[in-house]
Amino acid sequence: MDYVISPPPQVSVPVVGLDARFPVHRVYCVGRNYADHVAEMGGDPKSEPPVFFSKPASALVTDGEAVRYPQATSDLHHEVELVVALASGRRDLTLAEAAACVYGYGVGIDFTRRDLQSIAKKHGRPWDTAKGFDQSAPLSALTPKANFAPSTDTPICLTVNDELRQSALLGQMIWSVAEIIEQLSRLFELKAGDIIYTGTPAGVAAVVKGDKLCGEIAGLNSLNFDII
Ligand code: MN
Repeated sequence: MDYVISPPPQVSVPVVGLDARFPVHRVYCVGRNYADHVAEMGGDPKSEPPVFFSKPASALVTDGEAVRYPQATSDLHHEVELVVALASGRRDLTLAEAAACVYGYGVGIDFTRRDLQSIAKKHGRPWDTAKGFDQSAPLSALTPKANFAPSTDTPICLTVNDELRQSALLGQMIWSVAEIIEQLSRLFELKAGDIIYTGTPAGVAAVVKGDKLCGEIAGLNSLNFDII
């Protein structure tokens, strides 16, 4: 195939223990999936279904790669999240089919320009500029599902300059991984290569240039990088 310009590169992430990489198709995210974070943002966790939004695949940053402080914000917030990668998908999955679509898991950060998100929320506008910007989706190497299964007592945490900012258990998620995939498949025909950021616990806060971030979920490779 000839193209009129050079085609953009395929975005991919490393896989723990393999030379082959996971090719990323689309990046979906869930808002409001931990009761304590919903409370800190001023909502009732049981009142609504999951809030979905998306980021371009080009927003991905792999482990160890520095993140340049973005444009158009003075309130860049970290949100550490369990990320699930799909090996397959389609429309209208059952819960069991949704679970079977999983390729593996990683640790991600859903960076948010909170100042832009607050304006968008106030005026009922889309979240794209608050969420879908360059380098807004750092992600660790993926662990295949044969080697990791999220459990209710699995810890998730984020440190900034070795200071603990977010700490929770995956059991505090309101919607499980399978429930999220099932519900997302009612909106989109899911495909191999899609990844989903599954929401963040309480403790979101601002980062600044020079900060060193470390996201961890017990049983997965950690995510480490600097803001420059
Ligand atoms: Mn998030």
